[in-house]
Amino acid sequence: MFMDIDTFSKLHAFDNPIMNEVGKEITLDNVEAFFAYDDAFWHYLKSKTSKIDSHHPNARCFYGVYPDYDSSGILSGMSVVVPIIIDMATALINVHEFRHAFELYEHLGEPYHPNVEISEQIAGDAETAFSKQYVLSKGSKWLEEQTLN
Ligand SMILES: [Zn+2]
Repeated sequence: MFMDIDTFSKLHAFDNPIMNEVGKEITLDNVEAFFAYDDAFWHYLKSKTSKIDSHHPNARCFYGVYPDYDSSGILSGMSVVVPIIIDMATALINVHEFRHAFELYEHLGEPYHPNVEISEQIAGDAETAFSKQYVLSKGSKWLEEQTLN
């Protein structure tokens, strides 16, 4: 799907109605499909994830990936808290936290502590890539439909 950069920038803006419109259709499947991780990771992640309602006033305080270390400092597990996906904003929080979770998952059993700066950069890049890919695929279709109607 091709689109000129100006059209893309307009589509990609968060306050854009198109972003809101296509965002309503986002599901967890879209997020999982974006990451080419294997089933073993998703199974593991599901057993470690709590989903909360983003309308809860303090919801933002809880989102995150919380590593567990055993008594010898080995990364032994994690807890993941994300919002239920209802729009682009909540989908992006899932993308962000799942990227962090995958980084930890790759180092389970090691004395691993993420470099916070690099880790945030990688998670932020994943958000950008996801929203671009999603908007490019769904936004163009949505635009076409609006033009036809
Ligand atoms: Zn983060």
